[in-house]
Amino acid sequence: MTEKLYLKDSYLRETNAKITNINGSEITVDTDIFYPSGGGQPADSGKVLHKENEYTVNEIKKDGEDIVLLLDKAIDANKGDEIKEIIDWSKRYAHMKLHTAIHIIDGVLERDYNSSLITGNQIYDDRARIDISMDGLTKELASGIIEKANSVISEGHEVNVKFLTKEEAANKNLVRTQPGRELMSKLDIIRVIEIAGLDEQMDGGTHVKNTKEVGHITLESFENKGKQNKRLYIKLNG
Ligand SMILES: [Zn+2]
Repeated sequence: MTEKLYLKDSYLRETNAKITNINGSEITVDTDIFYPSGGGQPADSGKVLHKENEYTVNEIKKDGEDIVLLLDKAIDANKGDEIKEIIDWSKRYAHMKLHTAIHIIDGVLERDYNSSLITGNQIYDDRARIDISMDGLTKELASGIIEKANSVISEGHEVNVKFLTKEEAANKNLVRTQPGRELMSKLDIIRVIEIAGLDEQMDGGTHVKNTKEVGHITLESFENKGKQNKRLYIKLNG
């Protein structure tokens, strides 16, 4: 089983790891800092160093409990060899800020608006898409929600990662969709992202440590996708 360091410390930029399996240009590793995509957050990019050679990580795959790195060329190495993993930090940090921004918007919806729900999201390197199902959501109201989220950002709330048992998670509102509830019911340990004083959710992504790091959210566009369903694109400045 690969130890997934990104789940515990999103700020790690490099680590040493051992190769546990090799298949041409694919290596399985005992320790991983590269995020393999999921929950709307794209995969990381980065490099692997082995002896004098440098490889680009083209893809990060989950294989059961293992992580497999697809390199740009076949690697001349043996099982048990040590490598160094180096993450493309500027790209990862942009994803962490956008991912946290989506949580803050979700927290504001949960706190201040009934019957509103984020039904989907996708993070890109410079912006994020958020799909919201909410009665009466107009562009003006969406701008107001974004302003409330910016207030939360400037208040400087801590963002914490916690690992809860089933019992500890039972009475908390950690998932808002049916697929989320089904997934949570299968887990023994539930990873939770908490924005102190605002919101807690089951989550597998990477986030910043304090809302202040997010900067300032701007609403780039607002599209009607039906009576209740709206699509927002956000960007971050500062
Ligand atoms: Zn998250």
